[in-house]
Amino acid sequence: LVRAVGVRKSFGGTEVLKGVDLTVDAGQVVCLLGPSGAGKSTFLRCVNHLETIDAGRIWVAGQPVGFTSRGGRLHELREREVARQRRGIGMVFQRFNLFPHRTALGNVVEGPVQVLRKPRREAVEEGRALLARVGLTDKADAYPHQLSGGQQQRVAIARALAMRPRLMLFDEPTSALDPELVGEVLDVMVDLARDGMTMIVVTHEIGFARQVADSVVFMVDGAVVESGPPAQVLDDPRQQRTQQFLAKVL
Ligand code: ATP
Ligand code: MG
Repeated sequence: LVRAVGVRKSFGGTEVLKGVDLTVDAGQVVCLLGPSGAGKSTFLRCVNHLETIDAGRIWVAGQPVGFTSRGGRLHELREREVARQRRGIGMVFQRFNLFPHRTALGNVVEGPVQVLRKPRREAVEEGRALLARVGLTDKADAYPHQLSGGQQQRVAIARALAMRPRLMLFDEPTSALDPELVGEVLDVMVDLARDGMTMIVVTHEIGFARQVADSVVFMVDGAVVESGPPAQVLDDPRQQRTQQFLAKVL
């Protein structure tokens, strides 16, 4: 479903992604690990076309991100078309980014109504079902400031799911949470993975990676250093950089 080949990205002369290759099959979960500054967030942002890449190519569901092919040639997408392409990709960040003046349900319903032009009643019905799915049936009318961090993050996940994405990107979704709230968010993500959602998850939660990842990709300094099934990369890493990193986070 996702294929990245030779992705390069620089910010003002500093190359942050130095030829990243990565493949995610439909229904698979890939966990992206690596030290701070490795380029994990930048890579996710490139998949979602929040950043344009300097070289290489990323395909999502067979479409080159940021481009369309016409007459056998690639053309850069216009703003509107980029938005349409991005719609199929859900993203959840470290910070919850909920609309503060909207209730939990309001947050979930917003995209389907405004962007997908769904009738409000239908969106509300689906929104309630999604809130139930993330364990927040009784919080539909609560505002973000009335919710814990873990609850807010679960609303953020429900909001992303409301757009019916075929791919979900998570950028350290639990690292801003108090430790006792991490589990409830991971549980939702485990459910989602079991349900067959295709996911790329940047995380330092090794337990989660071990439990649900089909493959673990370890990145350092803008490049993939090692990748493979969790049992191999996490328990029997070949590269010294991976060993050093795991020794720190485990
Ligand atoms: P962390 O674990 O701390 O989140 P990361 O692996 O997600 O790190 P990135 O956020 O992708 O790393 O950043 C990679 C490098 O790119 C860093 O050196 C960062 O300073 C730089 N960088 C990221 N975004 C920008 C930007 N918009 N402008 C300039 N430099 C940037
Ligand atoms: Mg990051």
